[in-house]
Amino acid sequence: MLEGLLEQLENTDYVPADVWQRLLSVTDAVSLAFISSRARDVARASFGTGVYVRALIEISSYCSRGCYYCGLRCANRTASRYRLTRQQILECCRTAAERGFNTFVLQGGEDAAMTDEWLAAVVGEIKALYPEKAVTLSVGERSFEGYTLLRKAGADRYLLRHETADDEHYARLHPASMNGEKRRMRLEWLKSLGFQVGAGMMIGSPGQQLHHLVEDLLFLDRLKPQMIGVGPFIPATGTPFENEPAGSAELTLLVISLLRLRFPHALLPATTALASLAQHGTLKGILAGANVVMPNVTPSEVKGKYTIYNNKKSTGTESLQGLRALEEELQSIGYHIDYGRGDYKTDNHV
Ligand code: SAM
Ligand code: SF4
Repeated sequence: MLEGLLEQLENTDYVPADVWQRLLSVTDAVSLAFISSRARDVARASFGTGVYVRALIEISSYCSRGCYYCGLRCANRTASRYRLTRQQILECCRTAAERGFNTFVLQGGEDAAMTDEWLAAVVGEIKALYPEKAVTLSVGERSFEGYTLLRKAGADRYLLRHETADDEHYARLHPASMNGEKRRMRLEWLKSLGFQVGAGMMIGSPGQQLHHLVEDLLFLDRLKPQMIGVGPFIPATGTPFENEPAGSAELTLLVISLLRLRFPHALLPATTALASLAQHGTLKGILAGANVVMPNVTPSEVKGKYTIYNNKKSTGTESLQGLRALEEELQSIGYHIDYGRGDYKTDNHV
């Protein structure tokens, strides 16, 4: 029976809600191991044993939004705030380039001081210095004109998790000023502008039920993003959800495997949240079918201030030593770092 359900993921144009529901409900260890090993095989067929690395630069911890789950929300008085200068961002890129990274990911809160024009100028400078490298942005909801400017400046990819595809659940997680439909529409805009886009959701966010995850998977199936980020919800001090329980690492791994089976070529990170919650979370993510890791190269003087959630893992991979440690960890399970740009490829493009 399980095999029949998995075949539907791999071979049919449309996966109905009840198939997702049944697969998400799997809890016995033998079936979970079977799904994971099948997902791993699919990932290996697409990417071999290479794991792409992206240099993550957390450019600002200021945010004007109020997402209830996030430690950077504007009303969080306990959060430390910083904003990298243009020079600091370029310096991070230089260090990352020396280490061999071919993608820079600029992520931050929705910081009003980081205007579209300012960011576009920074992206332009990075692309002028490193024309062959990819720039990924993850700086929230902007206008169509803003995204256009950033794309024209040379940004290649954009991460904007949809967070939850269910509007009622979205309203449980965000203040009334935010709107799930408008956020999802932005993913369409970004696609239309030629960005490789990343959507995704937290696993175990407060109020999340299995049927919400089913909606998320149906939404992702329609959107067909090139990248999908899923990680467990982890409570953050100073937020309305500070006392809520964290999401489950096991369910996160199952969702990663199901995504891998449905999207054989998608770029799926083993997220920092997963690494923060579970021992050997990165390796578990890779063995479940993920194929991307995003080492944090934010300058050490501000690192630790980007407190999206409590006990966020700091990998130290900005140093050569840290990268070697990651390589060794990956080798222990038969994988290695792939320093390629790691663009989205389909069979047609390989
Ligand atoms: N501000 C941008 C945005 O919201 O798209 C980018 C930065 S935001 C911190 C990146 C992602 O962190 C969010 O999309 C959300 O899914 C995740 N996140 C925020 N708070 C979290 C928490 N408490 N636990 C796990 N993930 C969280
Ligand atoms: Fe701001 Fe993003 Fe955190 Fe929401 S998730 S509060 S937009 S940094």
